[in-house]
Amino acid sequence: MPRKTLGVVSLGWRCPNCSSMNPGPQKTCAACGSPQPDNVEFENMPQQDLVTDTSALENAKKGADIHCPYCDTRNPVDARQCKQCGGDLTGGQQRKSGSVLGAYTSGPAEQVPCPTCGKPNPANAGRCSSCGAAMTAGTLQPTPPAPAVARPTVGKRSPALIAGLVVLFCLLAVGCFALISFLTRTREITGTVSGAEWMLSIHVEQLAQVTKSDWRESIPAGAQVGTCEQRVNRTQDQPEGNYKEVCGTPYTVDTGTGYGEVVQDCQYEIYMDYCDYTAQEWQVVQKYDQTGQDFTPIWPQVVLAAGQREGTRTETYTVFFDTENGQLDYITEDAAVFQQFQPASLWFLEVNTLGNITDFRSK
Ligand SMILES: [Zn+2]
Ligand SMILES: [Zn+2]
Ligand SMILES: [Zn+2]
Repeated sequence: MPRKTLGVVSLGWRCPNCSSMNPGPQKTCAACGSPQPDNVEFENMPQQDLVTDTSALENAKKGADIHCPYCDTRNPVDARQCKQCGGDLTGGQQRKSGSVLGAYTSGPAEQVPCPTCGKPNPANAGRCSSCGAAMTAGTLQPTPPAPAVARPTVGKRSPALIAGLVVLFCLLAVGCFALISFLTRTREITGTVSGAEWMLSIHVEQLAQVTKSDWRESIPAGAQVGTCEQRVNRTQDQPEGNYKEVCGTPYTVDTGTGYGEVVQDCQYEIYMDYCDYTAQEWQVVQKYDQTGQDFTPIWPQVVLAAGQREGTRTETYTVFFDTENGQLDYITEDAAVFQQFQPASLWFLEVNTLGNITDFRSK
C-alpha cells in the first residue's frame, strides 16, 4: 500500500540519568548533559506539531543518526568525527529506524500537572517550570495506527488446540484418501449390449430485446445505453481517472534522527460509469427433441420462421449391458463412441465400487 508523507514531528527521549524528557533532535540531555544512549528509544510526544522548518525536514530525511563508538554521543549520519570527543565515527552504531511509534494526533495537548508540585506544565515539558522536577507523566503511550484497509487478525491459540487440529486434519486426509481409493477401485466384468436410448436436441433462437446493466466499457456495440451512475470499479495503489482517495489514520515512523515521519497509507477507489442498456440478443425460443430406443439416432426436423436461427445442439446416448451384476448403463454425449456398440456385441467392462462403468473394450 502506498505511504503518503504528511510531514515530520519532533520526537522525544527520556534521559535515563535524570528522567527528564528531551526533544528528539537534541542529542544530549538539557538537564544533566548526559548523551542519549543508543538503547534509549525515541517516543511520540503528547503535543505533535508538524515541523515546517526546512533544515529540520532535511535532517529528518538524511538517515538515522550514528552513536560514537568511543563516547556514545549521537552524531548526524553525515558526520565523520564525533562532535563531543572528536573520535572517528566509522564503525559507530547507527540508530534503528522505520519502527511505527503510534498514531499521529494533531491539535493542542492538555497541560500536565507537575508530579512534585502540581503546577500545570506544557505537555511536552521536560522539567517543571516551577520546581524543576522531571515531568515523568508527560509521555504518550504508543497506540497502534488504524490501517486504511482492515487486516485479518490472528488470534492466539493454545498449542493443545493446534495439535488437535493437526491430528484432525491428518485423519481427514487419510480418510479422504481411503474413500477415494475405495470409490476408484475397479474390476473387470463382461457385458452384452442389450439396448440403447438416445435424445438429440436442437435449440431455435430469435433476436429479442434484453435489458441489462454493466460497466460502460463492457456494453456491446450497438446497444442503447440508458441511465448510468458512478460506482467503485476497483481499488488500487495509484490514482486514475475519477478517483477517491481513501486513507488510514496518520501515524508516526521513527527516522532515527529525533524526528518522526508522519505518514498515511492510502489507496484509490476508481469510479466508473455503471449503466443500464437495452440490446438485441439471440434468445432460445424453442427446442426440438428427437428420441429413440435403437442404434440409429437422427436429428429432429427443424422448421425456422423468419428471423430465427438454429442454436446449440445437444446429444445424449445411453447403452444398456446385461452383466453378472444385472443391467448396467453407460451414458455418453459422443456420437462416435455410441456407434461402436452394436446390438448383442460382447464387451469387457471396467466397473467401480458404485457400479458405474468407467471404461470398456470389445471382447
Ligand atoms: Zn539528564
Ligand atoms: Zn565521541
Ligand atoms: Zn513542579
